[in-house]
Amino acid sequence: MRITRRWALGAMAFAPLAAFGAQEPGSQPACYDSDRLPLSQRSMRRSLGFKEVSDSETRRCSDCAFFTRTQGDCGTCQLLIGGPTNAASVCNSWAGKS
Ligand code: SF4
Repeated sequence: MRITRRWALGAMAFAPLAAFGAQEPGSQPACYDSDRLPLSQRSMRRSLGFKEVSDSETRRCSDCAFFTRTQGDCGTCQLLIGGPTNAASVCNSWAGKS
């Protein structure tokens, strides 16, 4: 993976959000506050058909080539320019790890 200045700045911007990692039993991990995402992140998620919780057992961010786990069930997505995501989320650009 090529780390660019833009990617690094994006990853740093979301690093504090990883602290939201606390999780209630049986609930979606709160890796970030979706209400506080920048407009650019919300727009990208909308265009990628992002779902907070995948309907599939096999197609999830945790199994996607673009996902990088940061802590627990939280991670970042290269297609979201380093934006935060949950291991259990998914979008239309899911690509299995080879
Ligand atoms: S490309 Fe989609 S499925 Fe893959 S990590 Fe990013 S948001 Fe998740």
